[in-house]
Amino acid sequence: MHTAIEGETLLALWERALAQPMATRADALLGDGAGRGHATLGERNARLAALHAQLFGRELDLLSHCPACAAAAQFSGDCEVLAGTVSAEAAATHRLAVGDHLIEFRLPVADDVNAASRHEDAEEFARALLERCVVACTCAGVAVLPSRLPLAALDALSQRMEVLDPAASVSFALECPQCASHWSAPLDLAQVVWQKLQAAAERLLLDVDTLARSYGWTERDVMALSATRRAAYVQMAAAS
Ligand SMILES: [Zn+2]
Repeated sequence: MHTAIEGETLLALWERALAQPMATRADALLGDGAGRGHATLGERNARLAALHAQLFGRELDLLSHCPACAAAAQFSGDCEVLAGTVSAEAAATHRLAVGDHLIEFRLPVADDVNAASRHEDAEEFARALLERCVVACTCAGVAVLPSRLPLAALDALSQRMEVLDPAASVSFALECPQCASHWSAPLDLAQVVWQKLQAAAERLLLDVDTLARSYGWTERDVMALSATRRAAYVQMAAAS
């Protein structure tokens, strides 16, 4: 088993993240207090991948289902590769020309996603997110509101953002082992790290419970044990 950090650290991290709603849980996992939500989505994913590598190892074992025949497809990702993906500066502004439109924009950050997620419709969500990131735009030299940008300009903007922040959304191109269909499986790193952390914390609490009952040890006593010794005592407690 991979336990690069102490049980106490793991439980503290779990407790801190548990206290947060899902929207800000990634920030809690990354220990971002003040100024949270201001990193680009790619930066945040890179840091979540680094956290996964530290806590659970570099390899991500993932599972998706073929949308055509529902067959299971197992695949893997490398956290160290994801952690090394570099984003453009969150605060920097960029320019894009599409036809007569000149758009000045910045990259989306977590706060933008949270604000735009009021829109349940996927297209409205995408438009709201993009509009929030437009700093200024003109058409043939005349200032226009971001809400007046044509769809083609928004599409171009979205593609440009993807180039500037390649890890903003992580997905894997898969081929079905049964029917050879192709699809793209998105990966929610915050969700993966949170689920694994929750499972690890629950296992740890069960160990504390078992050892406290068997030997009368306190939580602090159990936490002072190395993972190897803890596992050995749990095994003995179960056998007795
Ligand atoms: Zn299939």
